[in-house]
Amino acid sequence: MKIFNTLDRKKEEFIPIEPGKVRMYVCGPTVYNYIHIGNARPMIFFDTVRRYFEYRGYEVNYVSNYTDVDDKIIKAANEEGVDSSVISERFIAECKKDCEGMNVLPATVHPKATEEIDGMIDMISDLIEKDFAYEVNGTVYYRVRKFRDYGKLSGKNLDDLRAGNRTLLVTGEDEKEDPMDFVLWKPKKEGEPYWESPWGQGRPGWHIECSVMSKKYLGEQIDIHGGGEDLVFPHHENEIAQSEASSGKPFSRYWMHNAFLNIDGTKMSKSLGNFFTVRDISEKYDLQILRFFMLSAHYRSPLNFSAELMQAAKNGLDRIVTAVNRTDELLGKAPAGAADAELTAQADALVAKFEEAMDDDFNTADGIAALFELVRLANSALDENTSADTVKYFSEKLHTICDVFGIITDVKEEVLDADIEALIAERQAARKARDFAKADEIRDKLAAMGIQLKDTREGVKWSRI
Ligand code: AMP
Ligand code: ZN
Repeated sequence: MKIFNTLDRKKEEFIPIEPGKVRMYVCGPTVYNYIHIGNARPMIFFDTVRRYFEYRGYEVNYVSNYTDVDDKIIKAANEEGVDSSVISERFIAECKKDCEGMNVLPATVHPKATEEIDGMIDMISDLIEKDFAYEVNGTVYYRVRKFRDYGKLSGKNLDDLRAGNRTLLVTGEDEKEDPMDFVLWKPKKEGEPYWESPWGQGRPGWHIECSVMSKKYLGEQIDIHGGGEDLVFPHHENEIAQSEASSGKPFSRYWMHNAFLNIDGTKMSKSLGNFFTVRDISEKYDLQILRFFMLSAHYRSPLNFSAELMQAAKNGLDRIVTAVNRTDELLGKAPAGAADAELTAQADALVAKFEEAMDDDFNTADGIAALFELVRLANSALDENTSADTVKYFSEKLHTICDVFGIITDVKEEVLDADIEALIAERQAARKARDFAKADEIRDKLAAMGIQLKDTREGVKWSRI
C-alpha cells in the first residue's frame, strides 16, 4: 500500500511499526457547536482508511480526540451562562449522533482533552527539564529554535516565519524569547476553567493535547497521523516539535492531510452565510449521501459541495444499493449449483481493480468506479437462472466493498412525505371530532416513524428526527 506522506511530499510504501498493526491518530473536532460538513470530510475519509486497513487484515488502533477546552467553548458557555463542560458534553453527544448518521464507526478511543491534563503537565515538565520550554509569569512556551527540525512537515523556514511574525513582538507578546515560540500552558483568566499545575492555575495550549493523547493511547511512535490540511501548520508542526523533543524519537511515520471542502466554489464561512452543519444537511439528505459524496473525490483534491453533486451522489448510491438488494433477492431463489468460473474471474478482476485504487493512497474515487463496474456486471450477468454459488460470490464481494466505503445496503422502508401528511390530516380530523385518544395514537405512530410534530399558529409543522 502506498500513502502520500506530507512529511516527504511523496507517495511511500506503507510499512507499519509493528507488523499487522496500525496505530493511527486523527485530530478531532473542537466541540462548541454542531460539526460542520468540512469537519465531516476527515471523519468520513479516515474512517474509510481505517476500514480499508481492516479489510486488508490489519488490526487498527484508531484514536481521535475531542478538544473540549478552548476559547470558543468558553465563549459559548459564558453566553449561555453555563459551565463549559455543559457545552462540550452536549456537542460531543451531537457529534456522535452525526457520526452514526454518516456511518462513521466509533474510534478505538475518543479521549477528551480535559481528562488528560495530568499527562500534559508531565510532558510540559519534561520539555522544561530538557530545556525545550520555559515559563514566564505563569505561561509556559515552547522554545522553537531549540528544535532543529522545526518546519520539516510544513516546509517552512524559521527565518521566513519570523519575518512574517515581527508584528507579534510589538503587540505585547514580547515575554516570549522568540515570536515563533508557542504556548504549552496558559494562566487562568477570570471565568475560565482551570487546573492546578507547577506553573499555577491554568489550562493547556491546544497543540500539547494531541501529543499527549497520542502518546498515551498509541505510544511514543505511531504509524499515521491525520487531519485536514489546515492543521499542517502550526498544529502538526508543533505536535512534532513537542513529541520528538520529549521522546527523542520520530513521532509519526506518515502524515496524511485531506484537502478542504468548499461550497459552490468558495470557502465555507459563517460570515459568507454558506456554512452548513451536518445536522442542517441531514434535514435535506440522508447522511449516507453526504458520505458517498465525500468519497467520490480523492481526499487530497479540494471538493466542492453543491446540490447538483449531492444529487449525482444520491443517484450513484441508489444504483449501488439497488444492485446489492437485487443480488440478495436472487440469492433467495437461485438454483443450487457451482460457481461460474468465468463470471467469478470477472468479479475478481474488478475487486483487484478496487484494491489497486485503494492501495494507491486511498483513491476512493477510482475505488468507487471499480464498484460501479462490479454493479454493472452483477446487473447484466445475474438472473433467476444463475447458480446459487455464483450469486453468493457476487453478493459477498458487493457487501465487502460496500462495507469498506461504509455504504449501508439494508435500506429501511422509506417514509414518504405524502404518507406523513395524510396521517397528520387524519390526526387533525380526530382532534376536531374531539377524539383525542385517536389523535394521540396517530402522534405516537408518527413518532415511531421518526416524525416529530409541532403545533404552531400556522398549523402543524413536522420534521424528521
Ligand atoms: P476543528 O474543529 O476546526 O479543529 O476541525 C476538525 C477537523 O476538521 C480538522 O481535521 C480540520 O482540518 C477539519 N476541517 C475543518 N474545516 C474543514 C473543511 N472546510 N474541509 C475539510 N476539512 C476541514
Ligand atoms: Zn491535533
